[in-house]
Amino acid sequence: MQIFFPKEEPNEIRATILPEVAKKFIDLGIEVSVETGLGDNVFVSDELYKETGASICANKADGFKSADIVCKINKPTPEDIQQLNEGTIYISFLDPFNEKQIVSELASAKVSSISMELVPRITRAQKMDALSSQANLGGYAAVIEASRTLSKSFPMMMTAAGTISPARVFVVGVGVAGLQAIATAKRLGARVEAFDTRPVVEEQVKSLGAKFVKIDIGETEETDQGYAKELTEEQIKMQQEGMKKVCSQSDVIITTAQVFGRPAPRIITKDMVEAMQPGSVIVDMAVSTGGNVEGSKNDEYIFHEGVTIIGMSNLPGEVAKDASQVFGSNLFNMIEEFWDKENKVINFDLNDEILKGCVITHQGSIVNESVK
Ligand code: NAD
Repeated sequence: MQIFFPKEEPNEIRATILPEVAKKFIDLGIEVSVETGLGDNVFVSDELYKETGASICANKADGFKSADIVCKINKPTPEDIQQLNEGTIYISFLDPFNEKQIVSELASAKVSSISMELVPRITRAQKMDALSSQANLGGYAAVIEASRTLSKSFPMMMTAAGTISPARVFVVGVGVAGLQAIATAKRLGARVEAFDTRPVVEEQVKSLGAKFVKIDIGETEETDQGYAKELTEEQIKMQQEGMKKVCSQSDVIITTAQVFGRPAPRIITKDMVEAMQPGSVIVDMAVSTGGNVEGSKNDEYIFHEGVTIIGMSNLPGEVAKDASQVFGSNLFNMIEEFWDKENKVINFDLNDEILKGCVITHQGSIVNESVK
């Protein structure tokens, strides 16, 4: 059994695995092959992978030819899919609700594909949850980027020249990324407020020492996996009304609001941006799924009436080495869970709750109920 890690596309800073995890695969009895240069961006040489017992592949095509399993962070290109052997197990983020063409090509190529976004949020699968491992680092990186951009210190400082007030940070959406953003901003000494449509979050916000902003938007629901359900237009208006004052008083807003399988809700309007003090900063962490902030753009810094709106689509890539470490571990944990030691094969049991949730295509068909 051979697992191949092709190099990511040029705009990706992270590497799929680091040598430490390559070694774990080898210890499990799986041959590891990595494309030359896989770790270049995180300062990990081919030599370091080789030392673990992995082989270095000079090009993708050769790697695909001999691989039983192929793993990446990002979705495959159509050229990649054409080169995969029938029966290959392909694992990466796949964005399967939007990437219909890729899903149908994977099915036609008879590839068994696994979408890391769809790993169920159950206790047994926590160690494989790459959405969480990346969102956690993304939340941290969003605050660091905001602090770099803001022309004000985060902590309060009492100096001989007078007192500097702490930065006011407002976090909108308190899932995995939002909780880490709150914790990071608190560690930097900011005064932090937060809001989420799921009332259960209030306690978590308070336990981090931040203030929960109470807004009455009526009944809200969450899925059995803990994801928020979409608000009505009227509820969004109530939310915006309730957030206006906090937004206008904040030096930094970090938005992380997502609704599973749907475009991100548009929460911060142009008026709300314009009501902020010049010099304020917004980080829209939902920019690549539609954006929480009017005017935010993927991978751009927008300056609007003195407010900087940051739309970085790959915030985990700002801490690429750690992001690579945890992503690789998520992959390893998934493969180890289904590894049949005796027969040295993956036990591809589609009745298993985890695989049922995240396998998208198998033996020529789309098998995932929610993607179908
Ligand atoms: P997410 O990325 O889907 O959304 C981020 C946050 O945005 C969520 O907290 C959501 O409630 C919020 N949101 C949606 N619409 C909003 C709006 N209009 N205004 C403000 N906030 C809005 O969420 P996530 O970070 O992936 O986590 C979702 C939940 O899953 C959390 O409760 C998390 O603790 C839970 N979780 C469970 C496990 C597990 O294994 N049990 C693992 C990871 C996460």
